Amino acid sequence: MHEAKTLTREQLRAEIDRIDAARKAIEEQAAPIRAQLEPYKQKIAALDEEELNLLDPHGDLLGRCESCNALIFADDKGWRYEEGPMFCAEHSPTYGDLLAEIKTFPADEWDEEEYGPLSAAIAGREALVADHGADTICAVEL
Ligand SMILES: [Zn+2]
Repeated sequence: MHEAKTLTREQLRAEIDRIDAARKAIEEQAAPIRAQLEPYKQKIAALDEEELNLLDPHGDLLGRCESCNALIFADDKGWRYEEGPMFCAEHSPTYGDLLAEIKTFPADEWDEEEYGPLSAAIAGREALVADHGADTICAVEL
């Protein structure tokens, strides 16, 4: 509804008041449900706090494995894509996977300034496959 420009200021106020009243009525209808949820929210908050208290002294939690949801800490082995998912050692890509990924990487999206020529990156991964084998999981210290 884009009739706002055809409304007088007074009509606009009335329409906004109508919407506010409808919103308030719905919030009032939802209030008992919110009240029912409150104890559960408190239980979840207590678990969140317990988890934080456990993790705080260690301070090096990086995240969770995209595949199995395992916790991954800074000194664990695994694989982490830049600005992407992280994997535990068991679910990290193989050297062959990494080579296939870079070979299919769109050349026009490759950041040559940061990573050097794409051909050199491909050659580097080919060398890793030659050294470690295509089926070997590439899990590095994170
Ligand atoms: Zn995993």
